[in-house]
Amino acid sequence: MKQRRTKIVATLGPASSSPETIEALILAGLDIARLNFSHGTPAEHRERVARVRAIAAQHGRFVALMGDLQGPKIRIARFTNGTVTLQPGQAFTLSNQHPTETGDQNIVGIDYPSLVHDCHPGDELLLDDGRIVLRVERRDDHAVYTTVLTGGPLSNNKGINRRGGGISATSLTEKDNIDIRLAAELDLDYIAVSFPRDASDIEEARKRVQAAGSPAWIIAKIERAEAVDDDTVLDGIIKASDGVMVARGDLGVEIGDARLVGIQKRIIKHARTLNKLVITATQMMESMVSSPIPTRAEVSDVANAVLDFTDAVMLSSESASGAYPVEAVAAMARVCLGAEQERSTVQSGHRLGETFSRCDETIALSAMYAANHFPGIKAIISLTESGHTPLIMSRIRSGVPIYCFTRHERTQRRAALFRGVYTVPFDAAGLDPNAVSQQAVQALKQRSSLAAGDWVIVTLGDLRGTEQQGTDTQNHEKGTNSLKLLQVH
Ligand code: PGA
Ligand code: MN
Repeated sequence: MKQRRTKIVATLGPASSSPETIEALILAGLDIARLNFSHGTPAEHRERVARVRAIAAQHGRFVALMGDLQGPKIRIARFTNGTVTLQPGQAFTLSNQHPTETGDQNIVGIDYPSLVHDCHPGDELLLDDGRIVLRVERRDDHAVYTTVLTGGPLSNNKGINRRGGGISATSLTEKDNIDIRLAAELDLDYIAVSFPRDASDIEEARKRVQAAGSPAWIIAKIERAEAVDDDTVLDGIIKASDGVMVARGDLGVEIGDARLVGIQKRIIKHARTLNKLVITATQMMESMVSSPIPTRAEVSDVANAVLDFTDAVMLSSESASGAYPVEAVAAMARVCLGAEQERSTVQSGHRLGETFSRCDETIALSAMYAANHFPGIKAIISLTESGHTPLIMSRIRSGVPIYCFTRHERTQRRAALFRGVYTVPFDAAGLDPNAVSQQAVQALKQRSSLAAGDWVIVTLGDLRGTEQQGTDTQNHEKGTNSLKLLQVH
């Protein structure tokens, strides 16, 4: 059977934290387990991490862990009765002086005082992911006075977005700092940063992550209108991070659903061109919260992201709190595999007209050029410390599988997110340098369908074993400097 190239991220929550369910998720195809720090206690996250690691190890699987910081999501406070129903045309006030526990039909508190300064008459505020729409009529120093355009039920702590963006709280909160320390303690592989406005928010996050002692790679969630309004800002965020998430929940609310698909494609393309990872997220299989099968539209949405060449597709409430978490992962796996069959292109124009900036990048891209033009090549083996070389390789469209041969557990887990990359634990340290490549090919032959006569590309460096593991993609693994073609025998 063909190996699936697109990876699957699933959020763990109350519906998916028992050892049995975690095992079933991993067997169904889970590659990256997401801990959503907006929900759950540190003890619950600790337990999930321990279970994922233990069960993945039992099955010889490499599953990465991603901690997703809550960030400065702006929310309404709470209602006396937990929920109210707003009628179109009625007046509704958001007040930073109203007591936080006693909202009602007419007024509710907000936990973010500067909302009143960020809003102007005529603005539209979107509550609860856009289900409720309010038009700002006027404001004073304490409150925003609105008219309800789209009504319906509204309950405690729902998020507030402004159409067009521009409600700007600084990116990292005190709670995020605490969660960064938890992520460091749990040695998570990826940390996702919510609502970055520009590159400086990601740089700040990276500083704090490093200060907490974590080598996690940083995923920037693209979910503000400001982040996509201008390509320079978008590219700045992408370059400052190790990967991005097309966070369609909040992004779609801010920019409107109509532009979302086009912008998704742009984000994926920019991320890959800049040698970064990209995850496509939110409502991919939303109906599976309560249904064992996806809709045609959802199948089409997942397949579209696969054909866009996303590294991974993601489940949120479907796996965290839905009734069919395992079915949702299985459905995604099936749809990804199906969509990947269609990709017959073996030639790639990716970065053909560009110059390369580094030795390892040049080797990686040369390997892909060779792989895509010499049909005899059935596999690529990258002997790697940090995973940077297979990452760059996997930015190129190709049907040839890339094997990440590494001795570092962290790299083994990290590579779980790279499209079309598979991990093989391999320690070249004690081996005769002249025999390393041939032994790697033999190791792969034992675990794949390679046959005598097939060609394999091996990339490696002279400095293996002496490199430091870096915490970002910028300054490590200068070591990969050679490329060999070997024939399997
Ligand atoms: P969230 O982020 O699930 O943390 O809100 C993803 C999104 O907005 O799409
Ligand atoms: Mn979001």
